[in-house]
Amino acid sequence: MPELPEVETIARGLAKRITGDAIESVWLGSKPEPLKSPAAEIAAALESKKILDVRRVGKHIVFDLASSSGAQANGGKPETQWIVHLGMTGSLLVCAPETELAKHTHAIVRLASGRELRFVDPRRFGRLSVIEEFEAPGAEPLDVGFEKFAALFRGRKTPIKSALLNQKLLSGVGNIYADEALFRAGIRPRRRAASLTRDELRRLHLSLKRVLKQAIRLGGSSVSDYVDANGEEGFFQLKHRVYGREAKPCLVCKTPIKRIVIAGRSSHYCPKCQK
Ligand SMILES: [Zn+2]
Repeated sequence: MPELPEVETIARGLAKRITGDAIESVWLGSKPEPLKSPAAEIAAALESKKILDVRRVGKHIVFDLASSSGAQANGGKPETQWIVHLGMTGSLLVCAPETELAKHTHAIVRLASGRELRFVDPRRFGRLSVIEEFEAPGAEPLDVGFEKFAALFRGRKTPIKSALLNQKLLSGVGNIYADEALFRAGIRPRRRAASLTRDELRRLHLSLKRVLKQAIRLGGSSVSDYVDANGEEGFFQLKHRVYGREAKPCLVCKTPIKRIVIAGRSSHYCPKCQK
């Protein structure tokens, strides 16, 4: 499942390639799951619109759209937004129209430049919707300041790992980066969120931003490959220190990494380095 850094990388890649292009027409498949807004509504919102920007909000990809007259009247502000959530297996491809249609293509957006933007999703957990102005429910982990970050966890009796994954608190933090941030901060995933000291919260705030930014930097170089070829190669170059390393020696102290399940998600930690 793409996590925040992958979504950021994909959004940046799309922005580079299709910002300024315009949408001529839209084809939507007959499978109902990917369509969170009715097909007619999506088509009406997208057709004849200019793409002002493509960006990430939480784990969503947001296309800012405006008709050419509307963009001028609004001072460049979007009139409507197309929101894509990639789910487990969703991908967006920019390609020439003669490119063979992949199985499980649920949407084709024809661009004025002659290219097509296609949404492909074999498992159909991805979602397409249109909205006037999208707001993620939680705080943006890359922007949130320390005081606001600390306040998110005040009085929370849930494990810190669950709190990090709670999308109403922070938007877009997934399982891998939650484990990696907790390791770097020296905090066990099962600790009650409310029990974290100010110092620990400070370390967690820093390590979460660092690990996400590092992953974005590493993913950035392979953007066009991803968007074109639909391969995930290059995305997981960030060396995981605990995630997926059950029973392997901790990279710091050589203690075997433990794996536990918290709220149905596997969590990895070093019993010596993390308190
Ligand atoms: Zn260790």
